[in-house]
Amino acid sequence: MNKSPDAQRMEKIVSLCKRRGFIFQSSEIYGGLSGCWDYGPLGVELKRNVKNYWWRVMVHERDDIVGMDGAILTHPEVLKASGHVEGFSDPMVDCRTCKARLRADQVIEKKGIQQCPNCSGRDLTQPRPFNLMFQTQMGAAADESSIAYLRPETAQSIFVQFKNILEVSRKKLPFGIAQIGKAFRNEINPRNFTFRSREFEQMELEYFCRPEEGMELLEYWKEERLKFYENIGISRDRLHVKTVPDEERAFYSRGTYDIEYDFPFGRQELEGVAYRTDYDLSQHQKASGKSLEYFDEETKQRLVPHVVEPSAGVDRTVLALICGAYSEDEAPDEKGKMETRIVLRFHPRMAPIKCAVFPLLKNKEPLVAKAKEIVDLLRPHMHVFYDESGAIGRRYRRQDEIGTSFGVTVDFETLGEKDAALRDTVTLRERDSMKQERVPVKDLPGILVSRIS
Ligand code: ATP
Repeated sequence: MNKSPDAQRMEKIVSLCKRRGFIFQSSEIYGGLSGCWDYGPLGVELKRNVKNYWWRVMVHERDDIVGMDGAILTHPEVLKASGHVEGFSDPMVDCRTCKARLRADQVIEKKGIQQCPNCSGRDLTQPRPFNLMFQTQMGAAADESSIAYLRPETAQSIFVQFKNILEVSRKKLPFGIAQIGKAFRNEINPRNFTFRSREFEQMELEYFCRPEEGMELLEYWKEERLKFYENIGISRDRLHVKTVPDEERAFYSRGTYDIEYDFPFGRQELEGVAYRTDYDLSQHQKASGKSLEYFDEETKQRLVPHVVEPSAGVDRTVLALICGAYSEDEAPDEKGKMETRIVLRFHPRMAPIKCAVFPLLKNKEPLVAKAKEIVDLLRPHMHVFYDESGAIGRRYRRQDEIGTSFGVTVDFETLGEKDAALRDTVTLRERDSMKQERVPVKDLPGILVSRIS
């Protein structure tokens, strides 16, 4: 069967990710661990750029948000109070023919008859709830008291630490607490590369407010989050806002938006922005017996704050960046013949490597020395890469394929051998347009920093 263009595109992306060191299957040499992924040298840079930019705009550039970093191992009472122990489950169906375990919403229906999407078998069990949390044991005792969970979201530690953070930060409503970290869900069918993983990272903000501000802040945060995606280079046409209908929304939420992205495998959620009322803090207050109230100095009243939560996935954002950036165009090779060029068109802010530095020839000591000097000049400001091997055109292609934003070439003109006026200038090449300009070496840090930050 012929694969659709989108399926082919996805295959190329997955293969590039492995070939160039963005993302590998976890435990690959042992056959792989399903739903788990390891990020290689370039993947980790991309992921870090996403997290750092999120932290910058959500925490550093604002007065009303502080950060925290909570433990992954979580007290069972926390997750009982939040409703996860009872209710964090997906309805699941087993196919008795091929033994596949399916999410109930994956079962296909043909002419009114339910079928397994893998083997078309019709012998399916009734849907049963399957809790998605990873349970583990803490300490030596093997009884109930030793149960702990790997957190299924980062949010709960924010609610549980609300009082401590309120006291130390002395913030007034509305204010937020932000966190980036790992979360774990025993997804029944991990799929679509890293999109649905069992171990993943979230970037979550809990923005506490007065009840009357909730709906307005929900709109505000939806807009802020859309701006974030645009600012990291995700095209607005591929982003969609879904208003989650009443019947799909958590019962405590007064409004939820899903920010979705057009992946090659379909339109899927990148982030949820939800107005969760005072549900979480009230639940923890009830279960712990500790007050989680806020004292309003102006009105002299106590209240349990409401909360708006933008909750984004790091891995899904990274995948959206890679899918959006992947492109193929035509460029001349060394001999002027047109060839296909693979380019990751990352926004310079996100590119794993910002600038590659090349001496024109590796066996000319002054060119090599000058190029290394430029690497040292740029290194305090950005992630740079030095490459001296192969023809210059090949070196450009290798960098285009991993999305390096700029290339700097040191040639004989840089050494002033052809024209004294060009001494200490280099060619600066921009990845997407392949345009080259001649710039003085001393101006390089300023020019590049203004384009990547
Ligand atoms: P989905 O409906 O796709 O399972 P969700 O609605 O359960 O997602 P939330 O609980 O709202 O997801 O989690 C917030 C964010 O965390 C999601 O928008 C997503 O970016 C990320 N996320 C959730 N589950 C996964 C997963 N299994 N793998 C990767 N990222 C995830």
